[in-house]
Amino acid sequence: MKNRGLLIIVSAPSGCGKGTILSEVLKDNAYYFSVSATTRSPREGEVDGVNYYFISKDEFEDIIEKGGMLEYATYCGNYYGTPKKQVEEMLERGKNVLLEIEVQGAMQMKKLCPDGVFIFIKPPSISELKRRLKKRATESDEVIDARVAQAKEEMKYANKYDYVIVNDVLEKAVEDFKAIIRAEELSTKRIKVDTKEAE
Ligand code: ADP
Ligand code: 5GP
Repeated sequence: MKNRGLLIIVSAPSGCGKGTILSEVLKDNAYYFSVSATTRSPREGEVDGVNYYFISKDEFEDIIEKGGMLEYATYCGNYYGTPKKQVEEMLERGKNVLLEIEVQGAMQMKKLCPDGVFIFIKPPSISELKRRLKKRATESDEVIDARVAQAKEEMKYANKYDYVIVNDVLEKAVEDFKAIIRAEELSTKRIKVDTKEAE
């Protein structure tokens, strides 16, 4: 029988590079990326059903009411949430499920699923974060300022996670991520060794 997959919860201030890191990690098909729903507008290049399910506020509130969100939060004026369906099914199938969510949602998941693997990704500095957001050029200066202010708030939660990765050199951050997951997969918290043969 296949072991149940790991539920991996990743948070990082917007622009710090989590999308870039996760796209490397997701090249391995042992992972399933949970596609969130959001009320924010798609950025150029984002595809409905791939990056997010882009839905209206009314639709989002309807899903909440029907109990269809595992967790949800508002972030910079928009709703973001994890649809319940698929997460459980993928874990059962032995896939490692990745939730890329902000800190309020992660704290809800900590209560719901204490055996999840909680990873916080930090930028090397706030000035580098600002530089990366500007370089990405997907948001106005006003939105960038709001996201930087939000990032400072979010970083206060870093110690509530199991692991912290600093995304300075990309390749090293990806290696760190994979090392954490491998160690968790081998942990006796999750797999019990049959000790009969030692008797
Ligand atoms: P997030 O998903 O956290 O919002 P992105 O993955 O979109 O962030 O990255 C934001 C910008 O920073 C992108 O232009 C990306 O190419 C760049 N970036 C990501 N990681 C690094 C890194 N380690 N060093 C330099 N630039 C990076
Ligand atoms: P962005 O607009 O940059 O794609 O995402 C903004 C923030 O929302 C990021 O911190 C991202 O991790 C978070 N986010 C994305 N999906 C979800 C979700 O399903 N739930 C919660 N709580 N946050 C999410």
